[in-house]
Amino acid sequence: MFKDLYRKLTITNALILITFLLIFSYSIVGFSNAAFDASAKNALTGRLNKIIEIVLRYNSLEFTLNDETTKPEYNERTHIDYIIWDKNLKLVNLSTIQEDLVSKAYQNALEVSKTKGSSYNTVNISGAKYRLYTVYFRMANGDGVVAQVYQSREIDDLIIRQLFLVIMAIGTFSAVILIFISSHLAKKSLEPVRKSYESQKEFIADASHELRTPLTIIKTTAELLSMKENETIGENEKWLNNIQSETENMSRLIQSLLTLAQADNNQIPVKTEPVNLSELIKDLCGKFELVAREKEIAFDSIISENVQVIGDKDKLNQLLVILLDNAMKYTPEKGTITATLMHTSDKAVITVKDSGMGVKDEDKKRIFERFYRVDKARSREQGGAGLGLSIANWIVREHKGKIWVESEENKGSSFIVELPKKRKI
Ligand code: ADP
Repeated sequence: MFKDLYRKLTITNALILITFLLIFSYSIVGFSNAAFDASAKNALTGRLNKIIEIVLRYNSLEFTLNDETTKPEYNERTHIDYIIWDKNLKLVNLSTIQEDLVSKAYQNALEVSKTKGSSYNTVNISGAKYRLYTVYFRMANGDGVVAQVYQSREIDDLIIRQLFLVIMAIGTFSAVILIFISSHLAKKSLEPVRKSYESQKEFIADASHELRTPLTIIKTTAELLSMKENETIGENEKWLNNIQSETENMSRLIQSLLTLAQADNNQIPVKTEPVNLSELIKDLCGKFELVAREKEIAFDSIISENVQVIGDKDKLNQLLVILLDNAMKYTPEKGTITATLMHTSDKAVITVKDSGMGVKDEDKKRIFERFYRVDKARSREQGGAGLGLSIANWIVREHKGKIWVESEENKGSSFIVELPKKRKI
């Protein structure tokens, strides 16, 4: 699916680049052509006005202009020739003889003499193009005559063609490089989308797997119970408890899944109000002390007074419950758990330390991933699905804090949370 998307993105980028290149090349060529035309028209008009002025001044159509071809500043590209037709459209004067051009020019002269106006055209003489400017005017005696000036476009066309080729060559070369870069960028920009898609897929697969286990247990237990129709409920209390505890597991799991799914979509509002962490932890420690006593675990707490942070009280409560609950789950009887709250001028530091099984170095980062459990069977037995620390991690992130674990295998772990005291709201 992603290969297809990547190919489509690269092709779209390439097409956009090629279209842009063509528009750019044609625009440059078009502008240059228009600029050449405008300057040529100016030169032709100037020359023709000069000719008309000479004709009117000397009242003669037979004149000779200086031979410019011999001048040192002679430029073949800008050189202008002329043709003069009398009132009967008889050729009376011309600077150079070009038979093909003269007959084409005659047709223009004929048209202009009819309209008594002027025309500016490009004429094609056996592949060579000329700009031809034709004007009808009256002599002092009232005779209407036609004067024409023309200039070759050959060199201009050659320059334009070469300009087009150079732009296309540079453009194609840059387009190839740009396509290469754009394909690389397409790959790079799709990478996070691909990763998130893969992790969503994995998340759904893991969630279904986790839900299947309690469902299978409930189903088999119910089937077993249906075969014991002669026995009393009391006699089957163990099986009924089994169903109850699996149902609780499942509803806890669904709640965690919902939290993470909503967190991913930024659908959970996280409040930013002053929270007295000291009070919050003291309250929780009171409750966990009772659970610890039942498990014969020594529970201790060292809590600094009046430590306040900006955040969401319920979410911070949930974070502490996850950490204390884990400490209880993974610490054997006769172990110890210590909850500590310290603070500096700008941050509060919570530590939940236990003398339990510990976490191996290679698992320290991974236990914060969704569904990651070091010992699946043991965690399930304790009612865990490997989502608690992912939720804890999300809560800490939302509070712009940090969470990490320091641990030695079989000696115990310390889960440390650092929360900033002041935050920009
Ligand atoms: P679970 O519901 O399985 O406890 P968590 O996300 O809370 O899920 O924890 C992930 C895993 O991290 C656990 O399965 C366990 O292997 C490990 N872990 C968490 N807390 C502790 C702890 N205090 N001591 C040792 N291992 C722990």
